[in-house]
Amino acid sequence: MTSEERLGGLVIFWSNQVFKLAYPVLVKLNKAKSYSGLYENELDDDGFAYHYVRISLLENKTEEEQRDTLLHELIHCWQYENRKNVAHGASFKKWCDYFKTNYGYDIK
Ligand SMILES: [Zn+2]
Repeated sequence: MTSEERLGGLVIFWSNQVFKLAYPVLVKLNKAKSYSGLYENELDDDGFAYHYVRISLLENKTEEEQRDTLLHELIHCWQYENRKNVAHGASFKKWCDYFKTNYGYDIK
């Protein structure tokens, strides 16, 4: 399984089962040196919103790091849809606690 397939499966699972996102999430993998993950959102030509997540395979060396970076960015997707600040404040920390408590993941 490629990183693309694995992360694609994770996006479907977490965005549907946990974050309950309404907008589609597009994930692009790259070899960026300046970030491990990056969140943006855009409107397509018909005015439909979607989330755009970039994950650096260079900065994320293990599958666990890639997963945690993806979850970090999915928190931002949730914040955007729920009109929270897309940042690392209270609502972000709440999700970090959720993943720590329920899955033992350390989202930073
Ligand atoms: Zn962030």
